[in-house]
Amino acid sequence: MTTVPANEAFALEAIGHIQSDYPDKFGIPRQPGLAPAARAELVLEGAYADPLAVRGLDAFSHLWLTFVFHQSPERWTPLVRPPRLGGNAKVGVFASRSTHRPNRLGLSLVELTGIETRGGVRLRLAGCDLVSGTPVLDIKPYLPWAEARPEARAGFAPEPPPRVAVGFEAAARAALACRPDGDELSALICQVLAQDPRPAYHRDKGAAERLYGVRLRDVDVRFRAVGDGLRVVEIAPA
Ligand code: SAM
Repeated sequence: MTTVPANEAFALEAIGHIQSDYPDKFGIPRQPGLAPAARAELVLEGAYADPLAVRGLDAFSHLWLTFVFHQSPERWTPLVRPPRLGGNAKVGVFASRSTHRPNRLGLSLVELTGIETRGGVRLRLAGCDLVSGTPVLDIKPYLPWAEARPEARAGFAPEPPPRVAVGFEAAARAALACRPDGDELSALICQVLAQDPRPAYHRDKGAAERLYGVRLRDVDVRFRAVGDGLRVVEIAPA
C-alpha cells in the first residue's frame, strides 16, 4: 500500500475571477442551469490570460469550473442543513453541495457562449451560480459521454427544485420596456424568482405585505408574495 502524508496541504492560485449578474449571494439559484439567462464572464489573469491556454476550448459547449466559495467562512461542520430540506434536517457535509465545506471548493457545470482573446482572455458564460468576484482555480471541458449520468441516484435532491409563478406589476414592466436588454433581464428575473429565494421559514407564512429585494445585473428588483407565486412590484437602478 502507498504511504501518504495525512491531510496534505496545497497552495492554490486563482486563474481568474468571475464577473456575473449576481452582485450579492442572495437570490443566486442553488445550482447552475436553473437560470440560463444569467450572464457571466470569467476573466483570466496574469500568466493564465494566455490565448494559447484556451486554444480549442471553443469547440466545447460546456465547462466545469472549480472555484472557491470565497464568501463562506473557513470553518466547517460535519453536519449541514440543506435548504432543500427546509433548513431543519441535517446531512453530512460530504453528502451535500453546501457552500460551508472543507477547503471551500465548489464545482459548477456552465455553458460557454463565447471567448474573447483580444487584450487578455475572457470566457462568456451562461447559467452560472456564482457571485461576482468568485475566484476560479481551474477550467475543464465537459465530456458528456464520460460525465452525464442521468440514471444516477441523487439522494435528497432527485430533481430540480420546484418553481413558483412570477408576475410583474405594470410599473416593473415599463421599467424593463425602456432597456435594450429588457427581454433578457425579464427572463433572468423570472428564472431567479421562480426558484423562490425567500428564506424557507418565510414561505409558509405567505406574508404578502413583506417586500423583498434582490440585486441582479445593475438593478434592484422588489417583489412580494401573491397567492402561491411572487410578483415584481418595482425595478430600480441599483
Ligand atoms: N454548483 C456549485 C457546487 O455544487 O459546488 C455551487 C452550489 S452552491 C449550493 C450555490 C450557492 O453558492 C449560490 O446559491 C450562492 O448562494 C452561493 N455562492 C455563489 N458564489 C459564492 C461564493 N463565491 N462564495 C460563497 N457562496 C457563493
